[in-house]
Amino acid sequence: GFIVQLPLPKHIDEQAVIHAVDYRKDVDGFHPINVGLLSLGEPCLVPATPKGVIELLKHYNISTEGKHVVVLGRSNIVGKPIAQLFLQKGAQGNATVTICHSRTKDIASICRQADIVVAAIGIPLFVKKEMVKEGAIVIDVGINRGADGKLHGDVNFAEAGEKAGYITPVPGGVGPMTRAMLMLNTVEAAARQSGKTL
Ligand code: NAP
Repeated sequence: GFIVQLPLPKHIDEQAVIHAVDYRKDVDGFHPINVGLLSLGEPCLVPATPKGVIELLKHYNISTEGKHVVVLGRSNIVGKPIAQLFLQKGAQGNATVTICHSRTKDIASICRQADIVVAAIGIPLFVKKEMVKEGAIVIDVGINRGADGKLHGDVNFAEAGEKAGYITPVPGGVGPMTRAMLMLNTVEAAARQSGKTL
């Protein structure tokens, strides 16, 4: 397996490079074949960060069935694939999903309706206490270097944590899951290429 470390310098066509990856070794899950298979709910290499979020929920026995999940961000590497996973039929799926982005109006009121909020927009401390429903699960994907030199998530952990049922910290939380899932994808890719299933 291998990955293309993004972003690439501006003069290189990112999509052309991603298309050139052998989809069977595409452990980031960014190749159009893996993106398509994911949207069809078929076996594929799933992007590591979204996969890690699902694994976190599974580990804590948090069902998503019938829950309203609000995803903040619609990037190809986080927002869209995580929304696809929550829509899948089966465990850690079967959710009702709303995706918000920079043109969404009144994000705060949409967030307040969420049973699960996944923040992946890249704006430090964007999700505040008043945006979180009592007892909601808050998953912070954001990793942002602040002017103070420290890492901050997209969620104001101290504030949102007062209302959340569960909340992930930054650093920690989703970041280490991404790395673990990248390794798992590599093992899965190797197994599939040698005709084995895990
Ligand atoms: P990205 O490609 O920059 O996408 C950001 C998304 O947020 C876009 O869809 C954008 O909307 C939306 N957005 C921006 N400003 C907004 C606003 N004011 N209100 C609502 N939506 C807004 O970012 P990304 O690659 O998905 O990464 C998001 C964050 O996750 C970053 O902090 C990144 O460092 C972090 N990250 C962490 C991991 C991990 O392992 N934990 C992995 C990947 C990324 P538009 O589409 O309309 O522009």
